[in-house]
Amino acid sequence: MIHGDKIYCCGCQKPVSHSNAKNSNIEPYFKTTGRGKSKHKIDCPEKREIKQIKTIKSLTRYTTNLNKINPDDFHVIKVALSKTNIDHVPHGEINEVSKDNSKKRLDYILRYSGNQKRLPVQISSLATIAKLLSKNSLKNLTKTFFDINGNTWLINQFIIDQNQAFEIAYSGNFYIPYFVVYGKVGSVKKLDKVMYINFDQQDGLKPFTAYVLSSYYEYFTYTKEQLEGNYVLIQGPLKFNARYNQAEIQIKWNKQLYIMK
Ligand SMILES: [Zn+2]
Repeated sequence: MIHGDKIYCCGCQKPVSHSNAKNSNIEPYFKTTGRGKSKHKIDCPEKREIKQIKTIKSLTRYTTNLNKINPDDFHVIKVALSKTNIDHVPHGEINEVSKDNSKKRLDYILRYSGNQKRLPVQISSLATIAKLLSKNSLKNLTKTFFDINGNTWLINQFIIDQNQAFEIAYSGNFYIPYFVVYGKVGSVKKLDKVMYINFDQQDGLKPFTAYVLSSYYEYFTYTKEQLEGNYVLIQGPLKFNARYNQAEIQIKWNKQLYIMK
């Protein structure tokens, strides 16, 4: 009411607009649209990114020319995140498979001595994915692939941002049974029957929401305070919500979400 149409980001003075979301699960907020001048400056506190996000964005910019890489240099990591589906694991936890137990160990050591030994042979938790992205060089990661149910995928075909999630969910082209979506939590709304974890939509990012039904509240214990403003990885099957025009993942327990630091 005071400033009229001219509202600016307090971090970088770029124009923002008031978003009175039609989706009632999101409180009204201010955002840059990503169009024209309405984009946060690189050094704006709203824009601050963590290492893992920068790494994956660089990977996306870097087009891997498979013909130029010696196939012996490829590193394939088996992804076993479906084991973290609570409906399939009623009793206790499944531990990460130690590389000491793997037949691949010798091969692994031969190929990845020195700095490269940080690459795991199997991933069964989001924490390992966060570690993979923060501890490895871009060079190593461009030669790294994920084996998901017997098919091989690039890292950024499996670990995707909310815009990719939107496109995949909207088109219905679910080439993998589940994805890992990364982004910053903009707002959390916990109601009696459902909890909504809404991703930030600054700079024109598309809407993405993870939701937890109250019947799973006892298995999902993260709070609004823990989540809001933090970068997270969220894992699960994608779906499209036509009513709110957004991509969604249902979360059933803590293992489907990881807070990155
Ligand atoms: Zn800003």
